[in-house]
Amino acid sequence: MEKLILNQQNRPRLLEIIQYIKSAKNIVVIVGAGISVSGGIPDFRSPDGLFAEIMKQYPGVFSSGRDLFDLSRIFISSRSLTTFYKFMALLKQQVISARVTATHHHFAKLNNTNKLLRVYSQNVDNLEERAGLTINDCNNIRSSDRIVKLHGEIDNVWCNICHKTFPFSSDVINAFKDGTPPECQYCMEQAEKAKISGKRVRNPRSPMLPRPNILLYNDFERTVGEEIGRVAYHDQRKADCLLIMGTSLKVSGCKSLVKDFSKAVHNRGGKVIFINTTEVATNNWEGVIDVHIQGASDDWAELVEAELEKEPANKKRKRSCEDDGQKIKEGKLKKLANKDDKVVGIRQGQPTLQFKKRSNR
Ligand SMILES: [Zn+2]
Repeated sequence: MEKLILNQQNRPRLLEIIQYIKSAKNIVVIVGAGISVSGGIPDFRSPDGLFAEIMKQYPGVFSSGRDLFDLSRIFISSRSLTTFYKFMALLKQQVISARVTATHHHFAKLNNTNKLLRVYSQNVDNLEERAGLTINDCNNIRSSDRIVKLHGEIDNVWCNICHKTFPFSSDVINAFKDGTPPECQYCMEQAEKAKISGKRVRNPRSPMLPRPNILLYNDFERTVGEEIGRVAYHDQRKADCLLIMGTSLKVSGCKSLVKDFSKAVHNRGGKVIFINTTEVATNNWEGVIDVHIQGASDDWAELVEAELEKEPANKKRKRSCEDDGQKIKEGKLKKLANKDDKVVGIRQGQPTLQFKKRSNR
């Protein structure tokens, strides 16, 4: 893995690397929290981040930042649930006041020149959407959608009773601020209809505890992994350049996604470019990442942008491949899987399946 600091001295080599982006037709980008920091969303685990603020107000409720995203910890007590809700209200407010960064604008420009296949984002903020990239529904990704939300999103709230989502509105923020669960509008409508028709309202087995549409640890009710596996499998048959930005590559799901895309890109003669301010262990990424450019993602975005601007207009590509807003075809995946099998991850370009026990007969 080549290492290069993003500075003026290395400019000639950096421009050579940018050639790979210029010649690519289907760029896949995998991003983490680092790209949103300059937009005003600092790492929530940083000393002045939201976790420190929550720890000050509610000492001893959660022992780590990870616990705040772990369903088995959140529902331990009413105090932990209240703390979780208050944290989510703060996070949502931070996202509302955040700014779209040069990196997010760069993704939109790559899309406008039809070079962008997809952004796989570990971020729950909505800065990619605000920059102009489209996403329809995390659970139903279409070919025209340019974003895959690996960890869900914070624009909506998911109801644990009816499994529908509704907007994370100011009313929901206020309910979370008070540490109370917001009311699901769909469940309330159902209850109202039942009341009018004189039917008895059946009490659901669990209390109504809507939560942000974020994927939490130990959340076995959500099946977004299957949708992500389907899209990644589709994209690995096209990707010819992989950019990894603003992530320290520690989350295991992200690691395997990078490795699978790297194989696909290398098979097509493309390059894997990693842009991040901090180092990663070289041993783990030899043969996976071609070059690590050490620097801020915004600085990289601006440099690439300036070079792409120099391209003559007739070289800018029109996307001829399917971009019709249709659901991505499931292809081989569905044929492999029994309807009761569960996709639990992605390995070597194919979703890994958890097979339901079958009888030997
Ligand atoms: Zn509901």
